[in-house]
Amino acid sequence: MGLVEAIFGNYSKKELKRIEPIKNQVLELEEKYQAMSDKELRQQTQIMKDKISDGLGTLDDVLPDALAVCREAAWRVLGKKPFPVQIIGAIVLHQGRIAEMKTGEGKTLVACLAAYANSLDGQGVHVVTVNDYLAKFQSEEMGKVFRFLGQTIGVVLNGMDNATKRQAYNCDITYGTNSEFGFDYLRDNMVIYKKDKVQRDFSFAIVDEVDSILIDEARTPLIISGQGDKSTELYTLADRFAKTLKPVTVVEMDDKADNDALGGDYIIDEKAKTATLTKSGVSKAERAFNVENLMDADNMTLLHHINQAIKANGVMHKDVDYVVKPGKSGGDEVFIVDEFTGRIMDGRRFNDGLHQAIEAKEGVKVMRESKTIATITYQNYFRLYKKLSGMTGTALTEEDEFREIYKLDCIEVPTNKPVIRKDHPDVVYKTEKGKFNAVIEQIIECHEKGQPVLVGTVSIEKSEYLSRLLKNKGVKHEVLNAKYHEKEAKIVAQAGKFGAVTIATNMAGRGTDIKLTPEVKEAGGLAIIGTERHESRRVDRQLRGRSGRQGDPGSSQFYVSLEDNLMRMFGSERIAGIMDRMGLQEGEVIQHPMITKQIEKAQKKVEENHFGVRKHLLEYDDVMNSQREVIYKKRRHALFGERLSIDINNMMMDFGEKLIEEYQDAKDYEGFKMELLSSMGIDAPFSEEEFDRLKTKELAEKLFNAALEHYKEKARIIGEKTLPVIKNVYENQTHFENIAIPITDGKRGMNVIVNLKKAVENGAREVNLCIEKSITLGLIDNAWKEHLRELDDLKESVQNATYEQKDPLVIYKLESFNLFKAMVEKINEDVISFLMRADIPTQDPNTVRESRGPQGIDKSKIREQRQDLLAQSHSDTQQKQVTQPIRKEVKVGRNDPCPCGSGKKYKQCHGRFENAME
Ligand code: ADP
Repeated sequence: MGLVEAIFGNYSKKELKRIEPIKNQVLELEEKYQAMSDKELRQQTQIMKDKISDGLGTLDDVLPDALAVCREAAWRVLGKKPFPVQIIGAIVLHQGRIAEMKTGEGKTLVACLAAYANSLDGQGVHVVTVNDYLAKFQSEEMGKVFRFLGQTIGVVLNGMDNATKRQAYNCDITYGTNSEFGFDYLRDNMVIYKKDKVQRDFSFAIVDEVDSILIDEARTPLIISGQGDKSTELYTLADRFAKTLKPVTVVEMDDKADNDALGGDYIIDEKAKTATLTKSGVSKAERAFNVENLMDADNMTLLHHINQAIKANGVMHKDVDYVVKPGKSGGDEVFIVDEFTGRIMDGRRFNDGLHQAIEAKEGVKVMRESKTIATITYQNYFRLYKKLSGMTGTALTEEDEFREIYKLDCIEVPTNKPVIRKDHPDVVYKTEKGKFNAVIEQIIECHEKGQPVLVGTVSIEKSEYLSRLLKNKGVKHEVLNAKYHEKEAKIVAQAGKFGAVTIATNMAGRGTDIKLTPEVKEAGGLAIIGTERHESRRVDRQLRGRSGRQGDPGSSQFYVSLEDNLMRMFGSERIAGIMDRMGLQEGEVIQHPMITKQIEKAQKKVEENHFGVRKHLLEYDDVMNSQREVIYKKRRHALFGERLSIDINNMMMDFGEKLIEEYQDAKDYEGFKMELLSSMGIDAPFSEEEFDRLKTKELAEKLFNAALEHYKEKARIIGEKTLPVIKNVYENQTHFENIAIPITDGKRGMNVIVNLKKAVENGAREVNLCIEKSITLGLIDNAWKEHLRELDDLKESVQNATYEQKDPLVIYKLESFNLFKAMVEKINEDVISFLMRADIPTQDPNTVRESRGPQGIDKSKIREQRQDLLAQSHSDTQQKQVTQPIRKEVKVGRNDPCPCGSGKKYKQCHGRFENAME
């Protein structure tokens, strides 16, 4: 045990001592609740809920009773009584920490206890699993307990409709996957009506397999993207070019050495997983694409495509980093394989055009470069929760990262029964061939005596290789890898049967219990064979941990060769030296604690690298995160409407002040007047003399008052124009619930949907609130999407700063802040200018509708309309038929036909402003 482990081991022990009394309290309460009838037991839920809502106690206060009640319920409903260590685990979760509990210790039930105890404040508990299968399975199983106790439980799954999801989120406890929770958050911040939101609070989350979710998956952000308009041709061209180049592979690139002398066109750095053009590669590119200087700023896009093409061809490997298989489109598609779990990451794509470059490499259809509409990293999503907790069999190796990034500490919970599994030291072979021969021999040996074997591999490729070897020997076996994702749980559940042989890419099928039959226990229990050390110690520990659950017998052994990637790249020289000195031949083996130590050292080095990558991603996302928070908050105000008028006043003030400042600096009163008329539709409320003499702040005050006055008048007129029609429709029909009011500012037009009943009850205020909401939301969304696209571009371009020895992150921070400031100013200006000039168009509303086709805005019509409106800007024009009723109770999905009857999709019509508002 190293020093670090010794310290943290002690830390866990110390913390466990403090948890002990609570656990004992729970055990002591067993008798009390045992004596109760089912009905009485269920009533406890309400009693504790009342206590909390009446302010007579906190979740902490009721914890022992809550856990004891749930424990008794689990016993009555499932026939399983949570062990003392499971109670400890639940307390650790309740305290907002990570419980490290070995496989088979019953973490599902631990989560159930903690979820129940924390659901009593009514704010909702999210239980996060790694896949839909587990979310469904666990929610069904544990749902029995929650329902028995009178709590509601729901599950959110991929592909569910909004109404079902909303219902699930409104439950006391909600199960779902990390990606579904994360995407729902992003989608919720894109809705146009608050009724379309599905999530509520982010109060407490229990993350199952927390290391997999918060560490492994945290390396790629969640992205919702729309289709971009960039052509994909360049990817194909760049790929064709890259295939003509000669790569040179080095273990680690030495920046100081003359890399051009290596004689290749590009250098593959195995350790850093990068591909870099050499001088020769650059000049070949210049010739091939007929450009003078590839490094010129004008050729940035080309350089980027070439860089991604050489990375796709040189660094990314099929069946290791990705697979090619038929996708939703029917044709072959490229899917990312999670290198740690071996799972296919459905719907995720490599960033920055790398995915397209791989598509070009593999000759499958290159998807259009998508543009980001919304994005967040898991790190920042999970930081939204007031309290976060997690469970896993292996967290301690990543303890620092959990602490640093998520402010979570890890507590090692002891096992229910002592672990008797035998973990043998690694055996090291000189060659891979020698290693695999030994592995096959070992498998056959176990198989013949009926001992089941679970063989772990580091990639799909290796799984299939091993499978072929076994087939040649006639050994029946199952292969489990990311390609058969759906079946993995079922296959793994069978892995403990007599004589079973199962090959799995390291952690496929995780989360499913491997139960042993009695004769298997006699045969020595489940044997784990690792065919290679994984880059991460944690993944190796997980593999080991699949055997020896609940005091079962079992064994584990890793087979390593000097040709393994990890050994080749990190520290094999010393080991090779030892082996040579001992005069070892192929097939001969060495087993020595010193070697195991060297291997772990190498793994630590890799882990640090990966931590660096995740931190890097987070550093970039952190910049965006604070901006996202500002925008989402503005958006929420607009969506809910309550604080919107304050926001609008602030925007009005800011916008006016900026305008004055600008023209005062230029000493241009006339210009100011014109600008004011065109942007706010009002005359200057002060003279030229005042403009020259008074301070900006004073003038801004005057302008604000005048603008507000004008705005109120505007609102009154709009109310006057629309309310009679609204009343009329409301009183004379029963089919329609909403009405669409066309609004224009003379330049742009949109339809605002107003609830008839609310408008009749609340009058003009309601109509104007709807207009304010729609306009603000639409403009914020457009600006934010545009901003995200700019940030993407910026990120790409700052990478080139490394060529100039500058820190890209520093430049990114500075530039993105400037972009953000400009965006906020633009939102202010657009919102204010639209609202101040808003009017009901005088022409037939169909004209407005026509001008909003997918082809974009008919400019001539707009100009006409604008002239029209400018001429009458203050006159109260007679209103024509301005309203189109909307069918009642339409649930409008983005792809549904628009309820206005235009025949277009909702997202292209009322659901979207971008067509109406450029
Ligand atoms: P983990 O996720 O920790 O590996 P699981 O939650 O899958 O463990 O549980 C492993 C097995 O142990 C399951 O079959 C579960 O039903 C069973 N189990 C859990 N807790 C208990 C208990 N207190 N008594 C009896 N069986 C239990």
